Amino acid sequence: MRGRLLSVVALVLAVAFIGTTVTSYHVTRDALKQSVVETELPLTGDTIYSEIQADLVQPIFISSQMANDTFLRDWILSGETDPEAMTRYLESVRSKYGFFTAFFVSEFSRDYYHFSGVTKAVDENDPRDEWFFRVRGMTSDYEINVDPNQQQDDKTTIFINYRVYDYQNRFIGVTGVGMDLDTMGQIINRYRSDFSRTVYFIDQTGNVTLHPNREISYRKNINAIPGISDIANTILKNPGESFEFQQDDETILLNTRYIPELEWILMVEQSESDATKAAGRGITLNVIIGLVAILVTGLAIFLAIARFQNRLEEMATTDPLTGLNNRQVFDIALRHAVERAKRTKQPLSIIIIDLDHFKLINDRHGHLTGDEVLKSSANLLKASVRTSDILARWGGEEFVLLMENCTQEAALEAANTLRRKLSESTPVNTLKALKQTASFGVATLAGNEQPEALMDRADRALYKAKHDGRNCVRAATPIPN
Ligand code: GH3
Ligand code: MG
Ligand code: MG
Repeated sequence: MRGRLLSVVALVLAVAFIGTTVTSYHVTRDALKQSVVETELPLTGDTIYSEIQADLVQPIFISSQMANDTFLRDWILSGETDPEAMTRYLESVRSKYGFFTAFFVSEFSRDYYHFSGVTKAVDENDPRDEWFFRVRGMTSDYEINVDPNQQQDDKTTIFINYRVYDYQNRFIGVTGVGMDLDTMGQIINRYRSDFSRTVYFIDQTGNVTLHPNREISYRKNINAIPGISDIANTILKNPGESFEFQQDDETILLNTRYIPELEWILMVEQSESDATKAAGRGITLNVIIGLVAILVTGLAIFLAIARFQNRLEEMATTDPLTGLNNRQVFDIALRHAVERAKRTKQPLSIIIIDLDHFKLINDRHGHLTGDEVLKSSANLLKASVRTSDILARWGGEEFVLLMENCTQEAALEAANTLRRKLSESTPVNTLKALKQTASFGVATLAGNEQPEALMDRADRALYKAKHDGRNCVRAATPIPN
């Protein structure tokens, strides 16, 4: 029964605990995911965008200075006679600010001057030179253009193309600087290592323009990247939105942002499991606390049940007032002892003890004193019998003593000893004068006698003792074997 109760309690606790743990895990995970999708990824996009803007301020400013430089304008207007001078000028700008390139293209000669020399003239029919003719027709002063750099290994370069005017505000060429993508590469690598977020850029056709993973960065289109390809068209149509897609058994959270300066889309990705990793962190501790709680509760219940069971057993067998065995215990013990005595042919005696005029004690001194007298008499009897004897409270102010391997003579002697001890004691200290005596009926088991008959004979012996004036011992009439 104890085991069943314990298993049920442990099961209920375990189910409740697992339930709350799983629920709280899911709630935490959902909250983390929501915060990543709605706040952190967009915020990362914003931060990167402002870093890019900040990075573009200096080159735009330098390009504007170049466009207004009197040396540069005078040099063009005086017929581009000394290419060396222009090259030196461009090289000094480039090296001073650490740009990737500095350039000038003349409206008159269409020659392309850069920091290390002059290359071919730009050609209206060459698609790679298309940018010049675009800037030439432009109304704004400058544009930011991301293009492969023809002069240097076709590396992707961010160009600032600034229009140059003569002193009468006529268009005379395009100048500016070009930066490689190193700084932006550094930015995206930093986000990768610090926040396990993948930051990369695509152009408006979906070609990856810059990616921390160089293999992907080489102009792969998101249409050709597993997972994201499913939503590639939606992304291109709705830059600025958040998306979710599956890639290698992982759910990827994606936030996008259009960067007008570059005409690129900034992509910020994070796997859902990374985003919600923190939710799992508390779980282990939770599980340990839960298991300990279940163990401690189980132990507490086990101990409580054990205590109550002992108490119940005690209550079922013990007389609460005197602490002696109760009548039920005595009945069983007597039945067994009688059987044993018949089998082993050993003598068996019982003594019934009844306090004399006990009613008077109650009447004169009250029930509580009566109880005290009962208790102290029981204690005295208990202290005076052998441990192998069984002493019980038979009821009211009557006790009964079962003595195995005990002849009538020995029982009579024992009874007399008890009688004397009782009569000599003062059961209640506060009432020094109070004396308590008892009468004793002794009977010894005869051949085929039943326990009830034996008790009956002892009872009659007791009655005789009462009749004979109390405070004495009487033996039952023996039955011949
Ligand atoms: P006798 O010498 O003939 O045995 O007289 P007696 O007064 O002892 O006998 P009687 O059977 O007339 O009274 C027994 C009394 O014991 C009556 C009852 O109220 C009292 N008694 C029984 N059980 C308890 C108990 O647990 N506590 C107290 N205080 N009194 C009890
Ligand atoms: Mg009585
Ligand atoms: Mg009595």
